[in-house]
Amino acid sequence: MQEKMKAVRLYATWSPRDDFQPGPKDIEGKQTYLGSKVWRNPSFKIEEVDIPKPGIGEVLIEIKACGICGSDVHMAQVDKDGYIFYPGLTGFPCTLGHEFSGVVVEAGPDAYDKTTNQPFKGGELVTSEEMVWCGNCRPCADGFPNHCERLDEIGFNIDGAFAKYVKVPSRLCWSIEPFREKYDEKDVFKLGSLVEPTSVAYNAVIERGGGIRPGDNVLILGGGPIGLAACAILKRMGAVKVILSEPEECRAKIADKLGVDYIINPIKENLAEKVLEITSGMGATIYLEATGLPTIVYPEIEKIIWEGRTLNSTIVVVARADAKIPVTGEVLQVRRARIVGAQGHSGHGTFPRVIELMASGMNMLPMITKEIGLEEVPENIIRLQKDKKDCKVTCVM
Ligand SMILES: [Zn+2]
Ligand SMILES: [Zn+2]
Repeated sequence: MQEKMKAVRLYATWSPRDDFQPGPKDIEGKQTYLGSKVWRNPSFKIEEVDIPKPGIGEVLIEIKACGICGSDVHMAQVDKDGYIFYPGLTGFPCTLGHEFSGVVVEAGPDAYDKTTNQPFKGGELVTSEEMVWCGNCRPCADGFPNHCERLDEIGFNIDGAFAKYVKVPSRLCWSIEPFREKYDEKDVFKLGSLVEPTSVAYNAVIERGGGIRPGDNVLILGGGPIGLAACAILKRMGAVKVILSEPEECRAKIADKLGVDYIINPIKENLAEKVLEITSGMGATIYLEATGLPTIVYPEIEKIIWEGRTLNSTIVVVARADAKIPVTGEVLQVRRARIVGAQGHSGHGTFPRVIELMASGMNMLPMITKEIGLEEVPENIIRLQKDKKDCKVTCVM
């Protein structure tokens, strides 16, 4: 008899909008790269499903911790016509959950552990990338797995980790053993579940933003998990003034623990003026757009770049937004500034470096503001649509 497990699954109805044009990767009724143009009336079910069997190059992981991401919230949130907010790759029904860690309990043939370059034996503590890049397409071959043309995503269009077990390709797994030195057992797994969002921040400010030189100033707009993780990374890289723009007081409190030097409430204070004042008229080297509100924050960034004396600054766009950014070319030209986009967390050794950073003491645990059980995942995903008081809500098993 096939063994069963509980899983938190999201269902939705395939109901393409009038202007929807199916792309080459869309599978009618099952999967699309344009979620918000297709899926309607999402609903959760906690179901008994088969425990997956790892095939060639795959491992089965027993989940110990899995965080709720903004994407999970947006997959279950609807507009006035009942369509989901989340605009990207989705295939329902699907077990959600993509920020996870756990223990390898079973390995298929040819599933190798990068730490030892030997086959997985079982018992290894791991976290996993969420993007299942193919390794065969042109972007993958060129070294850009974050832009894979044959992408699957764990917890979006293939089954994720709000369950007892998840099956993943071993090439996506990274050991979190190094955490054991500084953290106790329970924290090891919680920290492991924060590697994925922290890697998104690392890819944004280091890989795409080009990092900084020790002694530079940085401005992070938006104190969600990505913005907060970027603050911690840039502080470690030697930023003298890490400035965070964030109106929510509870998030500002977490920022304090992660090494932020100045927190500006952009609703109560004039952001551009305040940043110029704090930096003695210099401005910043990196600006991270992590709010998803480019029309509101971009004019402020531009003002700081124009009036500040830092040349060669980089604006990194990491938050997704279906809005035009109001850019003045003259400002980019005169101030030698540039805008870059950042997506994903894979490639260029990002995961192992983030793990080593955390292992060496970059403690991201203050981001977790609530711990829940598996059964509480649906109600918490729904609550987070409105309640902004939490930062990271994590399911611990
Ligand atoms: Zn996520
Ligand atoms: Zn690919």
